[in-house]
Order: sequence, then structure tokens, then C-alpha cells
Amino acid sequence: RQELYRELRKKPSETKDGVKVDLLMNAGLAVDLPQLAEAGAAGIGLFRTELQFMVASTFPRAEAQEKLYRDVLDIARGRPVTFRTIDIGGDKVLPYFKGSVQEEENPALGWRAIRLTLDRPGLLRTQVRALLKAAGGRELKVMLPMVTELSEIAQAREIIDREVRHLSRFAHHLPTSLKLGAMIEVPSLLWQLDELMQAVDFVSVGSNDLFQFVMAADRGNTQLADRFDPLSVPFLRVLKQIADAGARNHTPVTLCGELAGKPISAMALLGLGYRSISMSPASIGPVKAMLTELPLGELKSFLDDNLSGPAANLPMRALLQAFADDR
Ligand code: PEP
Ligand code: MG
Repeated sequence: RQELYRELRKKPSETKDGVKVDLLMNAGLAVDLPQLAEAGAAGIGLFRTELQFMVASTFPRAEAQEKLYRDVLDIARGRPVTFRTIDIGGDKVLPYFKGSVQEEENPALGWRAIRLTLDRPGLLRTQVRALLKAAGGRELKVMLPMVTELSEIAQAREIIDREVRHLSRFAHHLPTSLKLGAMIEVPSLLWQLDELMQAVDFVSVGSNDLFQFVMAADRGNTQLADRFDPLSVPFLRVLKQIADAGARNHTPVTLCGELAGKPISAMALLGLGYRSISMSPASIGPVKAMLTELPLGELKSFLDDNLSGPAANLPMRALLQAFADDR
């Protein structure tokens, strides 16, 4: 298998019927970076910046943040990298940071990610400045986690713009372009998809959190782990609505949750219209093996037929598996 995956690296990343797909990898620490070349990823679709904060015993200094971001961009050598601003809170606690005034009964629904960084803008400002400096002369992509309302994007943009003005006043070398994206993880965004797509340069579906919130099922609770299936009619419809809204508004859409890394669910994503997915590096080989064998046109009609009519109880996973086995 490993041999097959190595061989596949030389092949273009496209379906059997010639549709190009970007297979990106998720990362978060310097130790992950050699995987970029080894796995043959087209770039880093999700760089989890909070990992640097989680392995430290105090807040990483601005210089340490900048160095990590610079190393990432150096190693990526022009391949796209999407940096997610710190996604702490919820299950990702920093032992040295007690910002919350109360114990949270529902940490997943609590003071976390963009909510926390907008309330502690110093954290975000330091990080944004480090990112801007590290990306001087190169493209920078920044993504906001757990966005719930579009106003959060506007507030983050103000902070970013202020840092850009600050650095240009001191004649710093700025990024050649700066793209701002939002993660789709909170269901409230599903009813403002067109507005969202207009408000950002790109979006990325955080399917781990989105599934948890759509199904009201804790992503870490093993008792629930097999109870609900992302490859079910309701969740596939959600994912399709997002892909359609992206296409309609010409806003690039990626998906960077665990779903992207399993060949059968990655196949479903492609059928729903996704052309860019980000996964753990070890999944790129298996997903590419699926991709190169996939008649995407057939899969698309198969999914359109099954998801558009009355379909409440269709066993989608089994149907998708049968589709894959037949081909
Ligand atoms: C997700 O929620 O799907 C995601 C990619 O972010 P994380 O797993 O880091 O919460
Ligand atoms: Mg998430």
C-alpha cells in the first residue's frame, strides 16, 4: 500500500473523469511540516495555531509565533497555507490561562475560539502581527474559527486592518495579498450562507464541530460515537448547501474536518461539489487512491437523485459504499 501511495504522488490529483481536486493537509506544529513533501499535499488547508499555545507552559511570545509561521511558509515554498487563529476554549484548554470568570457547564458552547479572542483582542493582535510579519512578501491566508455571526468577521477584520496600517507605517514588508476566511462550524451560518460567502475570501467547513452542533452530539463522547452518521441525508444536505452557496458566490470552499480523511466520505464530498479537502497527512495516499478511480460525473448524478427527492430514511453510507464497490 505504502508503495502504491508513493507511486500515486507522481500522478495528477484528479478524478478518473479528469476533474482536478486539491488534497491538502492539516498541521499545527513544526514537527508536522516534513509531512508536506512526504504525503504529497498540495498545501496546508488547516494550520491549527493553538497547538503551539497548548504545548507551551506560558503564552508563546510574539517572536516565537512569528518564527513558527515563517518556518511553515518557508517549508511550504509557495504552496497555499491557511492559518487558523487560535481556537482555544471548549476542549482545548491552556493550563496557564484562566480567562473565564466561571466554570462552564457546556464548554463546547462556551467562551472559545473567535469569541474568546474578540474579548481578549491583545491575543489576536499579537498573533495577527506575527502572521503579517512572517508572510512579508508572500501570500497570507487567515481563517477564523467558530464564527457564529457575521459581525465577528467584521470585528476581526478591523483588528487585522489596524495591524496592517501599523506595520505599513513602520515600513514593514507586508504580505503580497491577504485573504480572510471563516470556518463553518456553527449552524447559524447555514441560514446566512450567501451573506457569509460575500463577506469573506474563502470558507472552510469544520465538519467535526459542525456535525456535533447539527446533531447535538458531543464529538468526544464515545457512547455517541457510532450513533449518528455524517453520511446521512440531513448532514449530506447541509454539506451540499454549503458547496452550492460557495459555487453560486464564487467563494472557494474547503472542508477540513475528519470527514475529508476517510476515502468513502471524501468520495461523498467530491460528489457534493467539494474540490478542495484538507486531512491528516496519512490520509492523503488512501484518498488519492480513491480519487483517481472515481467517475465523478456518475457519482454526482447518483447523489443528486438520492438527495433531492423524499429521502428521509435512505441508508446513504451503504449506498455510497455499494457505489464505490461497484467501481
Ligand atoms: C473541525 O471542527 O472540524 C475542525 C477542523 O476543527 P477542530 O477539529 O480543530 O475543532
Ligand atoms: Mg472545530
